[in-house]
Amino acid sequence: MPHAHPLGIARWPRTVRIVAALLIIMAAAGCAVTDPGVAPASDNPQPTRDRFEYATIAMGSKCRVVLHAETEAIAAAAAAKAQAEIERLTAILSDYDDTSEAMRLVRGPVGVWQDASPDLIDVLQKSRTVWEASEGLFDPSLGSLTRLWRESMRSGLAPDPAHLATARAASSFEHVHIDAAAGRIRIGRAGLILDFGAIGKGYAADRALAVITGLGHPDALVELGGDLAVGAAPPGHSGWTVQTPGGPIEIAHAGVATSGPTFRFVDIGGVRYSHILDPRTGLGLTTPGTVTVTAPSGWLADALATAASVGGPACIASLTRAFPGASIRVHEGDPIPRP
Ligand code: AMP
Ligand code: MG
Repeated sequence: MPHAHPLGIARWPRTVRIVAALLIIMAAAGCAVTDPGVAPASDNPQPTRDRFEYATIAMGSKCRVVLHAETEAIAAAAAAKAQAEIERLTAILSDYDDTSEAMRLVRGPVGVWQDASPDLIDVLQKSRTVWEASEGLFDPSLGSLTRLWRESMRSGLAPDPAHLATARAASSFEHVHIDAAAGRIRIGRAGLILDFGAIGKGYAADRALAVITGLGHPDALVELGGDLAVGAAPPGHSGWTVQTPGGPIEIAHAGVATSGPTFRFVDIGGVRYSHILDPRTGLGLTTPGTVTVTAPSGWLADALATAASVGGPACIASLTRAFPGASIRVHEGDPIPRP
């Protein structure tokens, strides 16, 4: 999420209807999705449903919604409700917005149970499953480290060692305690900041898709940055065709995410570092490679793509064992652009 577009301030601009557009260029990850469009009437039991596509900015990223509906007014209303859901979640999850629920939580009293919304508890519980399965390589409690690292990416200077040590000590999900039954969270460590940058977009895409599906449009797609959630296949087709760094894939009822250092990096002392941090060092990854994950949901694809970016090919087997519905592909090579 680029700093220039803090979470929580994005607004839904004038929606854009693009009928029969065939190619969506994915913002962050160089992916594209191809929707075959409306099928011939003989293949399509609902020939009066057209394809509508809307584009906006949300969570600091390009957001696209594709859905099928009887009229543009119906489609626009559904897309607006999906957008409202993303904005609602942004106000809960954002670490760019000091007034978000997550930021208010970590500013609260250390070691004391605090009431939390069902959404925040849900994201934290989901985060915990990937934190555990990745043995801490995916860790959304590392917000203190990402703050330092964002400063390094701006300045081109390595973090101050003392500040790095303090931020590392404050960054572990073991200090996040979840009491889902009582709807409360306890943060056991001063200085811990929650950063849902590696799961929030996938999670929000899932929730926005659920809103659209609930309104009677199951054959829809929501893309937020490099993260996608797709529902039922478009009319007359067996899936959505998504372009990934490893080639096109066809999916339905799934999430897809691509993570890697391709577009966001910094050179420090001749070494090129990614915006994805290795929690073991507190520094950006220096390993090349792009990871694409398909999973039953967007949040899982998003989180696993980040986890596998940190862990590399060695962690794929254990992550896939923990989440059998997921498929993780690491694309070798050097995707970090060289001057
Ligand atoms: P993604 O682009 O989905 O891989 O997420 C990267 C973003 O997640 C970064 O910009 C940070 O805000 C945050 N982040 C970086 N490293 C990690 C990590 N190891 N675990 C969890 N979140 C991370
Ligand atoms: Mg991610």
